[in-house]
Amino acid sequence: MSEHKHWSEWLAERVIAEKLEPYVITSGITTSGPAHLGTLCEFLFPDSIRRQLEKSGKKVTFYFLADILDAFDSVPLAMESFRETLAPHLGKPLCDVPDPTGKAGSFGDHFLDEVKLLMIGFGVKATIMRMNDLYSEGKFDEWARFYLKNEPEAKRIVEETSGKQEKKDWSPIMPICASCGRIATTRVISHDGENYEYACDKDVKYVKGCGFQGKAKIADHRYKITWRLHWPAWKQIFKTSIEGAGMDHHTKGGSEDTCKEVTLSLMKADYHIPFKYGFILFQGKKYSKSKGIGMGVSDLVRLVPPEIIKYILIKPDLEENVDINPTAESMLKTMDDFQKAAELSGKDREALNRHERKMAIAYELSAEKLNWHAQFLDVLLYYQIYHDWEEVAKMTGDGEGVTYLRPYIEEWIARDFMPDDYRFKYQPGVVKPSEAAKKLIASLNPGMDALAVHNAIFEFAKANGIEPKALFADLYQTLLGKERGPRLGKLIAALGVTRVKKDMGVA
Ligand SMILES: [Zn+2]
Repeated sequence: MSEHKHWSEWLAERVIAEKLEPYVITSGITTSGPAHLGTLCEFLFPDSIRRQLEKSGKKVTFYFLADILDAFDSVPLAMESFRETLAPHLGKPLCDVPDPTGKAGSFGDHFLDEVKLLMIGFGVKATIMRMNDLYSEGKFDEWARFYLKNEPEAKRIVEETSGKQEKKDWSPIMPICASCGRIATTRVISHDGENYEYACDKDVKYVKGCGFQGKAKIADHRYKITWRLHWPAWKQIFKTSIEGAGMDHHTKGGSEDTCKEVTLSLMKADYHIPFKYGFILFQGKKYSKSKGIGMGVSDLVRLVPPEIIKYILIKPDLEENVDINPTAESMLKTMDDFQKAAELSGKDREALNRHERKMAIAYELSAEKLNWHAQFLDVLLYYQIYHDWEEVAKMTGDGEGVTYLRPYIEEWIARDFMPDDYRFKYQPGVVKPSEAAKKLIASLNPGMDALAVHNAIFEFAKANGIEPKALFADLYQTLLGKERGPRLGKLIAALGVTRVKKDMGVA
């Protein structure tokens, strides 16, 4: 039966079966550049599990952790114009790098703010925490001391699970240099479990240490635990019931292996339920911050409603790679699929097959309700013809839906994102009509709907021994001055048979 279920359902069921209420879902990301589609998974997937648990009447909190105590290691393409201002801060924690745009409290917060806005747009309910705040409050101190005390064992686990030998001066903690403020270039020289001595002299390629040597203690909270140990620590702090991660963490030698081993054999604690998900590809390629591969999400949310983006990401099997190809054609196909899913959602679950059932669940996780009923393509078509939103509302009989879709349609037009066939201008007679075209149009009756017009064209072609394809091309030429266009029945019905006849002089 479980193969009939959507992944969010069986993960929620596992949580209920194996963990104690109240449940905790955690997820964390380093906001070091613009949000991309992979970023969305980091909050949409956990939020889907939250929804399923809440649907079962369970108490659950989703903590979203912004890992902005991490080092600022490269200037993202989106901030290239600020390179000179930013470069001196390379190697510092992201929360200590100023935001060159002046909009946010720090560079890390700048991109975290973007994520927060997206979460609102996607209807995500999460408690957002900044890692730097948690460290400043001393939340990690207990674990830092634990790792320092068990340093040889911690190191052995990291080496064994990663398959990589660490340097002699490896330490569970990364001090923040009191002189230059960098975290990427420091190393611990000695410690007694609380007090430590460090040097800021590492060369990490993108930046070199300042040479400072100093002393500090854990209670100062001027450090961060190294990633592979930091990850299991936060799960203890939040008492995580379930947390997911991308495939890259789940490969052999990945940080998932370390996390599990540290939790079970070093901390001797219970392990949360881990789950893994596939890569989000952009036209077949992996996202790259530095190469700018992958349309920024803030771009995509202007082109299609958030429920569509959610639906694209949530519907597939969790471990499947999702390839996003944001062309007009693929987006339109998804919007059709989404509307079908909305219909399925209203049907009896038992009557649905495996695929239909998953569509229905993905729809329900993506939208509270269907915000539009008209076809997106029809709205686009009518607006292209009338350039009047009230008229479009009247023609579709879906005023609210049209209002909802309007900003997206306007964006499609502004960016010329339309499918080729929908790039047209009604210009009757710009190409001299053929006799066949004139005769066909003359034969149409006012009041014919799209299907009736469509059928009339086929019947006319058959009766007159014309290849339907040729007649269609002929009619497009006559009405639009080009060989292709939107569905002809729809186009003529939208224009109105009477109007077309008059314009063609056959009324
Ligand atoms: Zn330094």
